[in-house]
Amino acid sequence: MKVSQDLVLDVSEVLLTEEQIGAKVVELGQQISTDYAGRQLTLVSVLKGSLPFMADLMRSISLPLRIDLMEVSSYGGTTTESSGLVRILKDLSAPIEGRDVLLVEDIIDTGLTLNYLLRYLKGKNPRSIKVCALLDKPARRLVEIPLDYVGFQIPDAFVVGYGLDFGEVYRNLRFVGVLRPEAYES
Ligand code: 5GP
Repeated sequence: MKVSQDLVLDVSEVLLTEEQIGAKVVELGQQISTDYAGRQLTLVSVLKGSLPFMADLMRSISLPLRIDLMEVSSYGGTTTESSGLVRILKDLSAPIEGRDVLLVEDIIDTGLTLNYLLRYLKGKNPRSIKVCALLDKPARRLVEIPLDYVGFQIPDAFVVGYGLDFGEVYRNLRFVGVLRPEAYES
């Protein structure tokens, strides 16, 4: 893996600009604020990829809410293929029983991670559970799961930025872009 000092050089195409992402997050936040008015909202985000999205989305929601964080690993290290194996590295820190949970995800690809997480969280008896994903990559879906809120549908490409990594790098890019194959093939 060869990372340029200027991370932008490793990106072949900007799919979503900072402005496009920002506008969409505000739109999602407004919709969620309307839909969850008067309810007991808990946002559950999945580290590390969803971190910027969660931080921006929670500030676009005008309702009282709680947040909690989980960390799972699905892709092992420097690979661009889902292993289908999900490991919980960090669990919720508070019970969600009786709460309206909105799972905040960075990207849904095969759907295996989401499928696992939904089953796991449903086992904790929330009042309701819905999903808000910034990016939806439907081309490679293996498990069909309805997504309640989606930012953008994107084509089948490996993307980085706005939280998404390759080998733990590129998360701090402000936009979402396609990684040059040279960056992960070398
Ligand atoms: P799934 O289980 O839906 O195949 O994959 C979900 C997880 O895989 C995401 O939370 C993310 O960590 C990772 N992932 C899927 N597609 C991409 C991608 O295009 N780029 C990056 N950086 N990670 C991805």
